[in-house]
Formats: sequence, C-alpha cells, structure tokens
Amino acid sequence: MSLLDNLRFAIQRRRGPGANAARCGHLDQIRDVTRGSAGCEQCLALGDSWVHLRMCMTCGQVGCCDSSKNKHAHRHADEVGHPIARSVEPGEDWMWCFVDFTMVQAARS
Ligand SMILES: [Zn+2]
Ligand SMILES: [Zn+2]
Ligand SMILES: [Zn+2]
Repeated sequence: MSLLDNLRFAIQRRRGPGANAARCGHLDQIRDVTRGSAGCEQCLALGDSWVHLRMCMTCGQVGCCDSSKNKHAHRHADEVGHPIARSVEPGEDWMWCFVDFTMVQAARS
C-alpha cells in the first residue's frame, strides 16, 4: 500500500463514524421541558438507587441510566415512545436517542 492509499484509508475511516453519529430523526420530539424530579422518579418510589440520571426531552421525566439496575430512562423510552433523553449529571449536556442508539446534536439557536 502506498503512502497515499494509507492516507485515503485514514481519512475515510475518520469520516465513516462521524457521518453516522448525528443520524437521528427524532429531533422534533424535543420539547422545552422542565425537570420532573430531583432523582429517578421510579427509583425513588421503589426505594432503589441509581448510577446516573437522564431526563426525557419530551416530557421531563427523570430516569436512571443503562448502568443502573432498573434502567428507567431506557424503559421510559420503550414504553412511552419518547426517544431522546439528556444527561442531567453536573457538567454534562449531551443527549442520547434510545431508538437510533446515537448521540444527538441539537441545533442551538
Ligand atoms: Zn432518534
Ligand atoms: Zn430508576
Ligand atoms: Zn418522556
């Protein structure tokens, strides 16, 4: 393989995942929500604990992440059909689409 071929390969590899990263057709599900509760609503009701918190971007319900044993944010997405949740951990503002399994880039205006 020539140096040029190597270079092309590297560039293609870099473009590949980048191009797929923002493919989410659910951005219209994002609402101007207010946080429903301080912790995972359902874990609090059960007296359970969680690892990280996510907030549903459609209705504002707070649920626990996929590293938590109850995975309430994911369950909420499956059961209610609200695909996008954002992290409400301090300093984090990324969003995740549970349907597309991708990070969501919201257009900020
Ligand atoms: Zn999506
Ligand atoms: Zn929970
Ligand atoms: Zn919701």
